[in-house]
Amino acid sequence: MIYHSTRDTGLQVSSAQAIVKGIAPDGGLFVPGEKPKISIEDIAGLVDKSYREKAKGILELFLSDFTKEEISDCVEKAYNKTKFETDSIAPLYELNDTAYILELWHGPTCAFKDMALQILPHLMTTSMKKIGIDKQVAILVATSGDTGKAALEGFKDVDGTKIQVFFPTGGVSEMQKKQMVTQEGNNVAVTSVNGNFDDAQSGVKAIFGDKEFGAALEQRGSLLSSANSINWGRLVPQIIYYVSAYCDLVKADKIKAGDAVNVCVPTGNFGNILAAWYAKEMGIPIRKFICASNENNVLTDFIRTGVYDKNRAFKATISPSMDILISSNLERLLFDITGGDEGRVREWMQELQQTGRYEVPQVTKNKLKEYFYGGFCDDEGTKQTIAEVWKEYNYLMDTHTAVGYRVYRQYVEETGDTTKTIVASTANPFKFCSSVLEAVQGKPQEGTDEFEVGKILSELTGQKIPAGLAQLKEKEERFSEVCDKDAMKQIVDKFLG
Ligand SMILES: *Cc1c(COP(=O)(O)O)cnc(C)c1O
Repeated sequence: MIYHSTRDTGLQVSSAQAIVKGIAPDGGLFVPGEKPKISIEDIAGLVDKSYREKAKGILELFLSDFTKEEISDCVEKAYNKTKFETDSIAPLYELNDTAYILELWHGPTCAFKDMALQILPHLMTTSMKKIGIDKQVAILVATSGDTGKAALEGFKDVDGTKIQVFFPTGGVSEMQKKQMVTQEGNNVAVTSVNGNFDDAQSGVKAIFGDKEFGAALEQRGSLLSSANSINWGRLVPQIIYYVSAYCDLVKADKIKAGDAVNVCVPTGNFGNILAAWYAKEMGIPIRKFICASNENNVLTDFIRTGVYDKNRAFKATISPSMDILISSNLERLLFDITGGDEGRVREWMQELQQTGRYEVPQVTKNKLKEYFYGGFCDDEGTKQTIAEVWKEYNYLMDTHTAVGYRVYRQYVEETGDTTKTIVASTANPFKFCSSVLEAVQGKPQEGTDEFEVGKILSELTGQKIPAGLAQLKEKEERFSEVCDKDAMKQIVDKFLG
């Protein structure tokens, strides 16, 4: 199967090349040239298989230039008992008759980024071998929190890779910082950059844009690459858990194979919900995609009006992983719902870059509305939802998941649709324990650090703090280097030797 750019279908590569390149040379995103299909019988045949077996089956369809052995090897290394705390990998929790919570946070960093970042390093090194590049992959990441840690855990001690993460000195939570500076592994480095997230990110972009530096590193045996969510190698593993969740509903006798379901996804960069879209395109009967945003509700407006407009104030919320004004992966959906109109996509993306805004025509608006429902919720609503769900169901949600569940309920109220719905849960509640504790006890906890807050939340709710977070406080800090933005290149240079 070939992959091509969303902005030029003539720009074609194999899946291995798409994964190694990350982004198409024209600035577009790689998408599969055709969508592999699975039938209702195929789905029924997957129901009793393990998550790993399902993963292999789906990846084989999309990564057709990989051998079965290569895919099996990548899957076994990623989705196993040493990496995930449950062998079902992404379990489905029945909250009530209609809402099923798809828990995507049983991996090493307690957030859904693990679902893709545990396997990406293996897909990447395998891809390099396949296309005959005999170099080590050097991953550079600028992070505002979750991605950095998940990438570090994914690439840690993977042969043929090195990873350098930059985080903004004042721009991450205490817990997130601790997670990163205590990172283990012999191929990792973490540096804090004076400034905000934009400084760290523009620093990394400048390094990627420095052709001379890149060429010099290649001479020395390193190929710079990124692990961000527009890479096809991050998107394709996310399709698996939607297939798996659907199968789990069939297995539990909640639906029959072939029945339609809805999905609801707390959304930022549009990667997670887009994976659900691809699952539908493959043949999983998904009727409605409920796209939940926090107060950075660019996507809600887009789905409702057809106008994408990022010209608005950025809001820092208690669901920070969704604080995003440009949802990059939306470009892939636009390509699909315009019937593959590369020219249109190119124009819109140009407008977005130049003016921060574009508007799609009526026919595209209709298509969007046919499949998508957009809604948002503010911090108050998020906390209220955590408290209500805890009270009613004894189930503890993190802030991002609560945004999703709130919008799901808005949707049901508006439409009366009682189709069974898979609600993606994207983080363990203890990862955002200050906000979760405030929601559950109705007032903020003053004067304690995040670790103490975690303990209080655990005592109050009887829920266990995940081991990865509980052990953190005692862990040795390995990285204390702080640098200015201008020095980032030197740091990479030194790290790569
Ligand atoms: C990254 C992230 C999201 C947003 O996912 P996208 O794929 O970017 O839409 C939501 N919740 C959490 C906890 C995340 O880490």
